[in-house]
Amino acid sequence: MTDAQPVSRKEFDRYMVPNYSPPDVIPVRGAGSRVWDQSGREYIDLAGGIAVSCLGHCHPRLVAALRNQSEQLWHVSNVMTNEPALRLAHKLCDATFAERVYFCNSGAEANEAALKLARRYCSDRFGPQKCEIVAFDNAFHGRTLFTVAVGGQPKYTDGFGPLPAGIVHIPFNDVAALEAAVSENTCAVVLEPIQGEGGVLPADPGFVLAARQICDSQGALLVFDEVQTGMGRTGDLYAYMGLDVVPDILSTAKGLGGGFPVGAMLTTERIARSFGVGTHGSTYGGNPLACSVAEAVIDTVADDRLLEGVRFRSERLRDGLEALAARYGLIREVRGRGLLMGCVLIDEWRGRARDFLRAGLEEGVMVLAAGPDVVRLAPSLIIPEGDLEEGLARFAKVMEKLAASAP
Ligand code: PLP
Repeated sequence: MTDAQPVSRKEFDRYMVPNYSPPDVIPVRGAGSRVWDQSGREYIDLAGGIAVSCLGHCHPRLVAALRNQSEQLWHVSNVMTNEPALRLAHKLCDATFAERVYFCNSGAEANEAALKLARRYCSDRFGPQKCEIVAFDNAFHGRTLFTVAVGGQPKYTDGFGPLPAGIVHIPFNDVAALEAAVSENTCAVVLEPIQGEGGVLPADPGFVLAARQICDSQGALLVFDEVQTGMGRTGDLYAYMGLDVVPDILSTAKGLGGGFPVGAMLTTERIARSFGVGTHGSTYGGNPLACSVAEAVIDTVADDRLLEGVRFRSERLRDGLEALAARYGLIREVRGRGLLMGCVLIDEWRGRARDFLRAGLEEGVMVLAAGPDVVRLAPSLIIPEGDLEEGLARFAKVMEKLAASAP
């Protein structure tokens, strides 16, 4: 293989572990909410790299931050701290409930840290019996063994046992089930404010409030997984801010780096104390390149005008999708908040969300699936109105085509 030799999708099957099945299209360039493939064909990006590219592709402020830092310092390990990490931690604490921050590289790692901290804190304070984790059917928290075990989807745990013990799953949005499941031995309740991979299913505000009260009454910690909902995605900087419930621990990744890998766990000073020197860590966590990009992301997104723009675009997106639902009859419900929207397919189309992805690429629009029955959209928070309209027009062609080929 030389650099001059062209690469194609064939190399995927020949050289990659087959845990993905990408389409033939290989993106090579992105700018704002548009992406181009190897042949120069252009796509409107309504997928946002799975709710990651919150400021679109190659945002000049993020490019400048990365370029500047790349000429200063790339890595020093956690034996040392560094300026971008300290500035980012300070900004995250200023902008949220948090008093302490732990940096890592992904959502799964942020959740792994959250779950370990919850167990350690309860073990320190109340003894090792207070270790049970209450989680929800269809939840998704990442792919490490602990996080797949806490996520409630057997397809991600089958064949990987034995799994970590002490985890129970109950139906989402079911207050009675939560009351019954949480006991004096519960150390944490872990929830996504909107179940993302599970089908873009929002938590009921009353359910989230009840979760806070139940945790308080049993001395359990409330952990919010905001890996997908964080960094402006729902129209608030973090979704908890729109729910009027403050968690004890929050995990954030995806949009935090706007496309550069970085994750963080946020918590209070009292809880953070249970992670003493050496109890947890990561070689790359708090890497200066990642933290300088994330700093530029939070400087841009934690802005009332930008967040107002998310709410405005959200209404336009919802209206557009509801019109498509009415016109083509393939969508039963449009749900979600901010710029995280799910189109729930009608019963006859159950299991066929990926057909919309494939047809989308043919029509020049990138969309996502959230499980087998929901088409998900998570565009850039600053997608230009013209691109949003064009994306919806292309998505309408997808619907027209699929409706004509009714199953
Ligand atoms: N938690 C939630 C809610 C997610 O949506 C995801 C990824 O989709 C993760 C955790 C895992 O994040 P990562 O893939 O960065 O490990």
